[in-house]
Amino acid sequence: TMLGKLGEKLRKSIKKLAKMPIVDEKVVKEVIKDLQRALIQADVNVKLVFKLSKSIEKRALKEEPPKGITPKEHVIKIVYEELTKLLGKKSYKLKIDKKPYKILFVGLQGSGKTTTVAKLAHYLRLKGYNSAVVCTDTWRTAAYDQLKQLTEEINVPMYGDPNEDNPIRLAKEGLNKFKNYDVILFDTAGRHKNEKELLDEMEMLSKEINPDEIILVIDGTIGQQAKSQAKAFSERVKIGSIIVTKLDGSAKGGGALSAVSEVGAPIKFIGTGEKIDDLEEFDPARFMSRLLGMGDIKSLIEKFERVVEEEDKISETVDTMLSGKFTLKDLKTQFETMKKMGPLKQILNMLPLAGNIPKNFSKITEDKIKKYCVIMDSMTEEELENPRIIKYSRVKRIARGAGVRNEDVRELLRYYKTTKKALKGFERRKLGGPIQSILK
Ligand code: GDP
Repeated sequence: TMLGKLGEKLRKSIKKLAKMPIVDEKVVKEVIKDLQRALIQADVNVKLVFKLSKSIEKRALKEEPPKGITPKEHVIKIVYEELTKLLGKKSYKLKIDKKPYKILFVGLQGSGKTTTVAKLAHYLRLKGYNSAVVCTDTWRTAAYDQLKQLTEEINVPMYGDPNEDNPIRLAKEGLNKFKNYDVILFDTAGRHKNEKELLDEMEMLSKEINPDEIILVIDGTIGQQAKSQAKAFSERVKIGSIIVTKLDGSAKGGGALSAVSEVGAPIKFIGTGEKIDDLEEFDPARFMSRLLGMGDIKSLIEKFERVVEEEDKISETVDTMLSGKFTLKDLKTQFETMKKMGPLKQILNMLPLAGNIPKNFSKITEDKIKKYCVIMDSMTEEELENPRIIKYSRVKRIARGAGVRNEDVRELLRYYKTTKKALKGFERRKLGGPIQSILK
């Protein structure tokens, strides 16, 4: 499983939260404790865990859930968002915007660099780019054989020379040989006499090749140590992006991802196995929703979207209401919204309106709304659009059709008139209600 037990633990704490009868401060704190334990076991840096805890606590206790969203769902969404932030702000794609696009791969021996070079060549081919691979590793003789075997399997041309001991010469030769390809991938040595010499060679190769992108490959099993490793490399060359490998089943993968996302260079791919197609584009939000159990989170997000749509609809109704053209038809829409979303007073409170909300809004009971809707159902389209024409004979007809007293029809008409009058006192401010700010 991805990231070892971390996903399992996170899912468990969310499920626990979902089962709670109510969400109060105590519950929020308990959930945070569960998350802390899971994250620290996954080697996520303690400071980051602390920061996350603070944000969740603050938001969960302060932010009002939008109407239609339960406090519990709201807290789950906050947890999801804060966990996602731990992995980076957004997703970054590899863009091949030049020909040939030169990619230099750097990273320590054993990080999965050579495997990743082959995986990426395969990925690019599926995207329609023809790529070629150059082996500049003169330090480890097996590197050439390994790369040769991997590239042969996927039918990608590869250049290298096991008898050459000058990496610069190999790079030059490869560059010349593959200059008509869409992408050239340069594999480099991951070991040397010492770290300084390894980094010196990397810098020299970078100057010679002048790559369009330098990709650092990092072993995900080293956890938060990934940060210092990434820093050491980025002090010598400009790291354009990072690929974190071995996230399949690694207990410390979560720590590695969160540590790396602090470095500045984006994670564009992750390695999730030894096979050639075990390479995935990295998208923090998608990754986290999968880790937490895709379905649940997805339906929650969809629910949020529906609420926003509802808010837009209410907003429209309010606009008509305030435009002075408020008809019985609008009143009907308003009643329908109220049935779904709760009392109008509450709905109006969600919207950025200035002025006092008329008192009679809150007075109307559900029974009344039901009765008024039945009455309006026996009105003609013309009457709904233009209530002024409803005189005595029409009142009688409508009352008969709805099975109510004439007085009930007149009561509805009175309610309509006061509502219309009250609405004139309103002024509408610019949009930007509480829901929008939460979804930003
Ligand atoms: P290099 O020394 O950096 O070139 O690393 P290699 O490409 O030789 O990989 C080292 C080992 O890690 C090999 O056994 C690979 O099969 C393995 N490896 C690479 N990437 C992944 C990955 O994403 N998941 C797993 N499980 N193993 C990987």
